[in-house]
Amino acid sequence: MPANISDHDARPRASASSIAEIDLGALLSNLQQIRAQIGDREILAVVKANAYGHGALPIAAYLSRNMPKPPLWAVAFLEEGIVLRAGGISGPIVLMTGAPQEQAGDIVAHDLSPVIFEKSTLQALSRAALRAEKEMTVHVKIDTGMGRLGILPAEALPFIEAVTKAPGIRLVGILSHFAHPDLVDADFTQGQLLSLQKIMGELEKGGIKVPYCHMANSAAVVGLNAAYLTLVRPGLMLYGYSNLENKERFQLKPVMQVKARVIALKKLPPGSSISYGRTYFTKKESRIATVSIGYADGYPCSLSNRGEMIAKGIRVPVVGRVCMDMTLLDVTAVPDLKLGDWVTVMGAEGEQCVWADELARWAETHPYEILCGIGPRVRRQYIS
Ligand SMILES: *Cc1c(COP(=O)(O)O)cnc(C)c1O
Repeated sequence: MPANISDHDARPRASASSIAEIDLGALLSNLQQIRAQIGDREILAVVKANAYGHGALPIAAYLSRNMPKPPLWAVAFLEEGIVLRAGGISGPIVLMTGAPQEQAGDIVAHDLSPVIFEKSTLQALSRAALRAEKEMTVHVKIDTGMGRLGILPAEALPFIEAVTKAPGIRLVGILSHFAHPDLVDADFTQGQLLSLQKIMGELEKGGIKVPYCHMANSAAVVGLNAAYLTLVRPGLMLYGYSNLENKERFQLKPVMQVKARVIALKKLPPGSSISYGRTYFTKKESRIATVSIGYADGYPCSLSNRGEMIAKGIRVPVVGRVCMDMTLLDVTAVPDLKLGDWVTVMGAEGEQCVWADELARWAETHPYEILCGIGPRVRRQYIS
């Protein structure tokens, strides 16, 4: 393992209450499969939100060192870009939520590439670049149907022209974003792609060359080759998940496994109530384990009386309400479970596995929220 990964939050300490094991080999394999699929296009690896909970700096540092051609990096906010720069990441870093004007100086100082979509930001960045006597690279975002960030297609050309003329600014990318993270509505998805391609066509006619044109999230990388354009922008699939049913082209491997410890264990008679609000009563004499992970660590409250963990290779149900720091399990079926043992909260153990997509189904959310939600108390340990 590269030295500077263990220097950060990866340092294993003698005792931890809960652990997120990050399999860097799985991460590398997921990225290599994307590389193999997209030919010589570029990859903008999405490491926002602390790399979906996996640790942005260790992830980017590892991939920088282990990919012959490292990807570009995408984060949401300035602070996230600074963390990567401070940790020695030297490749392009795209700020995907834009550039609040008061951050223009910092963005230039750290050589970050913001996504922009309106004039006042452009002017502020241009002034900051001139002041610093630097050239700053930007990407222009087009709103093709998300209603979120981006200039509307009808206003795009004059804005892009203004970007190409702004002193100190170099336009390196045009992008848009799909409204369906699973591309379920094929017509709408296609319409969005066409809308971006139309603008690219007009730019070309006008003699404006832009190196990167990008739109493909993970779902498009898996299921929509037409959206590859010149650069792809995957997040979720790097971490081993896909929203698409048909993902046979890829053997994605989940990167994170979460484990917690048995911190109390007892036999309770039939009719005993379990946890806050007394939402569960034992039906027979039951062995109840308390494990050291709760909603403050990202184990959702909505898994109360619904989730399952794996103890000694056996799936065991969550009983009663998930608490802030602890969750209770009925482990009657696992007589050899002892105080201090680890249980698998997310991951594979023996014949069983519980991954973020299954947790998400139980919690009525998506794997993104499960992964990003794994909190800072859960100690990250990097294995390769
Ligand atoms: C988060 C994000 C992505 C990555 O999406 P995945 O579905 O995780 O692949 C791509 N582009 C933008 C603009 C995003 O915000």
